[in-house]
Amino acid sequence: MRPRWAWVMATALAGAVVALAFAPAALGDDDDDDDDGAENVPVTFLLDAGPPAPNLDGGVASSVADASATGPTPPVPLAPPHPVGTDPMTLDPGASTSVGGPNTGFLSGGVPLPSDIPGLRSNTNRPNRDGFYGTVEMVRSLVRAAAVVNAEMPGSELTVNDIALPQGGRIRHHGSHQSGRDVDVLFYLHDRRGRPRPAVGVPLDPQGRGYVFNNLASGGDDVRVKLDARRTWRFVRAMLEDEEAAVQRVYVVEHLRTLLLREARRQRAPAAVRRRFEESTCQPGRPHDDHLHLRLYCTPDDMRDGRCTDSAPMYPWRRAQLRTAGLDPAMQARVRRPRGPRPAATPRRRGGGGLPAAATPTMHERARTFLALRETWSRPPRTGRSFCR
Ligand SMILES: [Zn+2]
Repeated sequence: MRPRWAWVMATALAGAVVALAFAPAALGDDDDDDDDGAENVPVTFLLDAGPPAPNLDGGVASSVADASATGPTPPVPLAPPHPVGTDPMTLDPGASTSVGGPNTGFLSGGVPLPSDIPGLRSNTNRPNRDGFYGTVEMVRSLVRAAAVVNAEMPGSELTVNDIALPQGGRIRHHGSHQSGRDVDVLFYLHDRRGRPRPAVGVPLDPQGRGYVFNNLASGGDDVRVKLDARRTWRFVRAMLEDEEAAVQRVYVVEHLRTLLLREARRQRAPAAVRRRFEESTCQPGRPHDDHLHLRLYCTPDDMRDGRCTDSAPMYPWRRAQLRTAGLDPAMQARVRRPRGPRPAATPRRRGGGGLPAAATPTMHERARTFLALRETWSRPPRTGRSFCR
């Protein structure tokens, strides 16, 4: 049955991108790192994923590359996932519960992301075919934010990749995404003429440009794409302003963060939301130059359930929010590891976006140049800001 999407503006983009999931190994960091790499790249980019990189703190992320898609048996009884086709807007906030943390959790009563609604595309080529379940708040906030973008800029389409498996738990290609509160979305893109085009998970350079290289041996079939900062920022802003979902983190490469902040100023976004974006964004060990990863805090009702756990950082607005909800902010003030100098990032052994880490003899010139440039933003130091903490 078709849910009530009448309030969502119509005009979704047609046309699927021929792509295949690709997943590089983890460069693990228990709290903030996510090893999604490219999620939607042309077949010709496919490469052997190689061995997993070591986890910096020995957390669970180190072994995700070996984890089965279904993950370990949950330590607690979980409510079954809601059936595909469920309208998330009709559910009670307690319909789902995020159990545990992003890197060690499960999902009780998982809510499927609706597919093929105007303004939102649930990517069928996502890294994990069943990875479209989230908490009710996560799913609803995505639907709402995509609708806002499409209402203001008709023809917009948000492409959503992995959230979590139907009951959460370990999920291939990710360190986190275990408790229904993490999501990967592709950047909104436009073509050379500024027209919206279907999103594809290719790395974007400091000007927001990227290429769908297709055959790496030939430059003749390259398609140039560009970050659609207007739409992408509007989406991020809608997520940050969502009253039901509290965004804790936005993982994104530094130079795209800069472009989005510039766009936020251009759109004269309220100072408060720009500050929220500034403080919640960071570049993890993996650059996240081909997608955005958003993480939500536990909701008040999940915290009352007693099984949802958050970790640092904790912001003043979040403390105030918890106090208003009658919850003790100390409940989630736990920090998983001592603060201190962070080890330098391991140089990337391979590129995300399906690009190899080093040029190959048959690679055409533009791809080689792009790859060399990419190295400059893939390794520290960056623009004076630290990695995610
Ligand atoms: Zn992710």
